[in-house]
Amino acid sequence: MEVWDFCVIGAGSGGIRAARRAASYGAKTAVIEHSALGGTCVNRGCIPKKLYVYAGSHSGQFVEAGLFGWRGLEGHSFSLDLLRAQKDEELSRLQALYAAGCAADGVSVFRGSACITGRREGCFSIGIAGGNDSQQELRARRILIATGGEPLPLAEVGGEAFTGGELASVSDIVFELESLPARVVVLGGGYIALECASIFNALGSRTTLLHRNEVLLRSFDRGIVKHCLDAMVARGVDCRLSSRLLGLSSKRAKDGSEEIQLDIEECASLSCDFVLAAIGRRACTRELGLAAVGVALDERGKIITDEHFASSVDGIYAIGDVTASPELTPIAIRQAEVLTRCLFAGSDEVFDARVLPRAVFASPAIASVGLSEEEAREQGSVRVYESRFVPLRASFAARSGTRVSAGDRSMLKLIERGGGAVGSGEVLGCHMVGADAPEIIQALAPALQVRARKKDFDDVVALHPTNAEEFMTMRDFRE
Ligand code: NDP
Repeated sequence: MEVWDFCVIGAGSGGIRAARRAASYGAKTAVIEHSALGGTCVNRGCIPKKLYVYAGSHSGQFVEAGLFGWRGLEGHSFSLDLLRAQKDEELSRLQALYAAGCAADGVSVFRGSACITGRREGCFSIGIAGGNDSQQELRARRILIATGGEPLPLAEVGGEAFTGGELASVSDIVFELESLPARVVVLGGGYIALECASIFNALGSRTTLLHRNEVLLRSFDRGIVKHCLDAMVARGVDCRLSSRLLGLSSKRAKDGSEEIQLDIEECASLSCDFVLAAIGRRACTRELGLAAVGVALDERGKIITDEHFASSVDGIYAIGDVTASPELTPIAIRQAEVLTRCLFAGSDEVFDARVLPRAVFASPAIASVGLSEEEAREQGSVRVYESRFVPLRASFAARSGTRVSAGDRSMLKLIERGGGAVGSGEVLGCHMVGADAPEIIQALAPALQVRARKKDFDDVVALHPTNAEEFMTMRDFRE
């Protein structure tokens, strides 16, 4: 039986990148996938999400365009069918690109579910079931597990007294919905909850965000999150924090249709047509045969790896969301690059994600790089520069007749290490809520990577008129 140098289980962003790089370094490489090529990011996450964010952003632009002189926009309407069809076409294009890339680099793609069945004479055996071909088996010297994660179903985490968890959907189906629910309740206070609540709200659903505690987006700067929350409320999302859900039930509404009722502690119950549970994700490790070969998992079910992505079993590696690293596509891709250089190109580098730009594509978007104010203060003295402003586009629209609301204001925050002379400290964090925030923060990330000082920002000539220039002109601070 032929022996593969490298068998990758999972053809998401990380797995595909690892397989293609390994093959390009000369390793005989196979990748096994039971679903569409591209994984969560391409098929159920980042890409369809961003397309739906774009779709939602147009709703306000029709009104705004009129204020900028455009006519003939009255009577517009939105078709979810059309958006879904266009999205599916785009995903097919991306899947085809992935397949073509694998073929070009000499990676063999196997369809089906993989299970590691044993190890003999230095090679692992991997069974593949349920694909187009009949059951097959591969032998490989090394295995990479890049199976990613899946949404946590409410029914499995609600607790004993909790009922009706099965009435809540998960994010995998949001971009498959055939009609827009009139009333949506989104459970959770993380990335997916804020992004999906913003999308439903922008497309026209009456949207409630229900979160169990008072802090949204726990790992982001508190002030920035508060600004985003106020803006989401101003844009129409009913945000209910510190709300504990007791259970869900199915009811018949007055007009005879089915609706879902949410019972909330110390509050009136809430009725809606669609409940989305966005309460975190879990690693896809089941049915891979990991326990039988001895791959150790942590208490959250994630594969434990060392700094070289090696699992507890020699020859089995893991990257991306199936491990304890941040669940972000670019992280999995960078890990794939580092791992394959180490395994097949003689490198001994260690993965470094000291500076990690992140964005939540809510409406308005939040983006962040470096330390939050809370994290920075834990490390010592700081200077915090803040700016809140109405971007030119929104202020012009306001002059033309509409009111500026909290939803139109942007907020920027820059954190300088304190101690020395003003401006001489390293920039520890940059955060933004508002138009173009993810684009602006991505472009600032190299400044933090090279440990730029606040003075370096001050010395740069501003690019006027932009929103980004505010980061170069911040003078007032608090300590
Ligand atoms: P997150 O970890 O971001 O947030 C989970 C949320 O669910 C938290 O607010 C948490 O509350 C709440 N929660 C957890 N358990 C329960 C429960 N039993 N009942 C009620 N609420 C609960 O998870 P997401 O699912 O939003 O996203 C998963 C990951 O995917 C993200 O962390 C991110 O890494 C990645 N992602 C990245 C995106 C991007 O880059 N733009 C977009 C989407 C996802 P509490 O704070 O109280 O624990």
